[in-house]
Amino acid sequence: MGIAAWREQLRKGEISARELTDHHLARIAAVDGTVHAYLEVTAERARADADRIDAARSAGDALPPLAGIPLAIKDNLCTKGIATTCSSRMLETFVPPYESTVTERLWQAGAVLLGKTNLDEFAMGSSTETSAFGPSRNPWNPERVPGGSSGGSAAAVAAGECIASLGSDTGGSIRQPAAFCGVVGFKPTYGRVSRWGLVAFASSLDQVGPFSASVADSAELLQVIAGEDPRDSTCLKAPVPDYRAALERPVKGLRVGLIRECFEQEGLDPTVKAAVLAAATQLEALGCELVEVSCPRFNTGIATYYVIAPSEASANLARYDGVKYGYRAADAGSLADMTARSRSEGFGDEVKRRILIGTYALSAGYVDAYYKKAQQVRTLIRRDFDAAFSSVDLLLTPTTPTTAFAFGAHSEDPLAMYLADLLTIPANLAGLPAISLPCGFDPQGLPIGLQLIGNVLAEEQVLQLAHHYEQAAQVMAQRPEAELAV
Ligand code: GLN
Repeated sequence: MGIAAWREQLRKGEISARELTDHHLARIAAVDGTVHAYLEVTAERARADADRIDAARSAGDALPPLAGIPLAIKDNLCTKGIATTCSSRMLETFVPPYESTVTERLWQAGAVLLGKTNLDEFAMGSSTETSAFGPSRNPWNPERVPGGSSGGSAAAVAAGECIASLGSDTGGSIRQPAAFCGVVGFKPTYGRVSRWGLVAFASSLDQVGPFSASVADSAELLQVIAGEDPRDSTCLKAPVPDYRAALERPVKGLRVGLIRECFEQEGLDPTVKAAVLAAATQLEALGCELVEVSCPRFNTGIATYYVIAPSEASANLARYDGVKYGYRAADAGSLADMTARSRSEGFGDEVKRRILIGTYALSAGYVDAYYKKAQQVRTLIRRDFDAAFSSVDLLLTPTTPTTAFAFGAHSEDPLAMYLADLLTIPANLAGLPAISLPCGFDPQGLPIGLQLIGNVLAEEQVLQLAHHYEQAAQVMAQRPEAELAV
């Protein structure tokens, strides 16, 4: 059941916010021992929030749009008074004194916080295996990763441990786990949603977005979190359209571009390719026109990203020096020793790898060869998209080259892990809105994700086409064994 239907039931008093919250807390108690989507469950606060909503309803107050809807929040979004760890020893004891803009808007809209979800350390990774607090598991098969970095937020939705959740996407961290867990994940246009209170990874790429069981529910969350924020200077001032109303607009005549380079990838699993092409055919049946387009620089995205993102990360993570906040090594001697030891002990291997790569790429002798060159290629990638959007409305690709992989499959080989983001990264580099939604299952019964990419601020069109596909395809009803493994 979707948010709109719950809202109706709550308004009519057919269910109470407390019952809906307790249902999800019970589900967490039953399955999170296996899934480990949550780092912290805020049960007491959730019940108090829900009771307040129920009291307001009884008093006849008008209820805000997300009143009583239980949500989970990625643990790199600051929640006042509630630990925000980024799955790092460095921030294990950090309790923010302020609330992120996006979460503040959700609470103002009446949503209930169930807890904070697991991620790869500082959102660096594609499997949650770099979390300092242990990985999350894929609800479809606990032997498989849920994807990352927002793996906990995706798994929580897939396992029914919340109605929807928030994640962040720097190179694919919403869309890739959404694909692996068989849920909807939406990265809006860069700047559509405020980053205030999102712990910075790569500031020119980071964007917050929703996970949900349906496209309509992602529209519900985006409606609340999108829009101008004076506290984030990169947040766009563009007015927020009615995303929910956009869903039902007809899609007949929309031109959908299939990016040739994506379908020619060497590592593209044939079952993923077949499912995505079948989805394209289904869009054609809905009246869309399919067009083959070329983005010649698409495949350079990954190399470009792995210079730009670590460079920005190395600067952003310089603040964890053991002095101002975060982990501090004990008995460390001089200030320099204390900083060095605090960072050595507080950060995990992947974070250190990124800091080293980024520091190198920005160093005086190499900045032109690496960082500046990467910025130039980034511009070329954006121009490829501009050219494509001169002839089509939306672009279609697989979200990931494969379905969810096994634990440990790539953890010894960072480059193999980085390839998981091959198809998602270009939209971040160009700042474009992109959604992943389920389009089928592989022979092991693992979900396959379809990615739709829109032009700048074309969130309405992305949601509209995704919604029509979802309604026509009914993918979740097609899974051979309809039961989750958990
Ligand atoms: N997996 C990518 C990385 O490791 C993307 C992460 C993200 O989007 N936060 O950098």
